[in-house]
Amino acid sequence: MSQLKKATHGPFAGESQENNLILCDVDGTLFGEGLDGDNEKLIRFLAAAKDIGYEVVIFSNAADGAQFKVRALGLKFFKDLNFFGEVMSKSAYAGERAWVVIDDDHTSHDVKAGFQFSPKDSHIDRMMQYFGAAKTLPDLSDPRN
Ligand SMILES: [Mg+2]
Repeated sequence: MSQLKKATHGPFAGESQENNLILCDVDGTLFGEGLDGDNEKLIRFLAAAKDIGYEVVIFSNAADGAQFKVRALGLKFFKDLNFFGEVMSKSAYAGERAWVVIDDDHTSHDVKAGFQFSPKDSHIDRMMQYFGAAKTLPDLSDPRN
């Protein structure tokens, strides 16, 4: 997408940003242990990233079990069961490159990530500003949503 910018730093610095993949873990990252309920800030970030053309993939070492919760999050925040698509297995991305991986345990995957973020990483706020995405969740009081 034309809105994607060149990487300015990190391992992919200077490369035209053909790799626009953002991988995000489920348990302990989107919700659950160590978090106060659903990680709404991260959910907003993923939606903003999708909106400007990044490929957002949710992955898990227990992909089948995670699918139900991820569908529930899609329904809750976006009224769309399939908002986040199919939860993929982490093993399917072993050795692959991604721009950003968000995970509460980065030893649980073998992705070559430009950036590794924790679930509540302050970099997520900065990237939201970079995206210019102040409003990313649909206004559920608006009958069109
Ligand atoms: Mg996890």
